[in-house]
Amino acid sequence: MSKIEQTLSIIKPDAVERNLVQEIKNFLEKNNLIIKESKKIHITKDEASEFYKVHQSKSFFNDLCSYLSSGPIVVMILEGENAIFSYRKLMGATNPKEAENNTIRKLYGISIDKNSVHGSDSKDNAKKEINFFFKS
Ligand code: UDP
Ligand code: MG
Repeated sequence: MSKIEQTLSIIKPDAVERNLVQEIKNFLEKNNLIIKESKKIHITKDEASEFYKVHQSKSFFNDLCSYLSSGPIVVMILEGENAIFSYRKLMGATNPKEAENNTIRKLYGISIDKNSVHGSDSKDNAKKEINFFFKS
């Protein structure tokens, strides 16, 4: 059964800084995801903290929020068949060292914190995260 979904993707500062935006977009499109919306923004640390608040108790929270607000990012709405899961698969494991071949994090990630991309992990979070950046 066809299940067309939308999910939120972020190209993080390390990848924007290395001019990987177009390469990552091409990779997504080659893998059957449609980029419905895309914008380059620079968020504040407070906004990053709000976005990542599910991780607020984690030891890496402060560094994570500083990092996401450290430079421009590209936020996108991706659409496709099973988009949430299929994009998570294309991203690869959180730690690039553990990511499978031919995943974005394996190809471009530098380290567990500078892992080039974010992707929503569930239907509920996809909805919340899309609304966070693309309020209509
Ligand atoms: N992160 C980190 N150190 C860790 C675990 C996670 O810096 O030990 C960062 C990493 O950038 C990751 C983000 O926190 O992408 C969110 O973590 P999550 O477990 O949700 O991973 P993801 O869903 O991005 O794979
Ligand atoms: Mg996550």
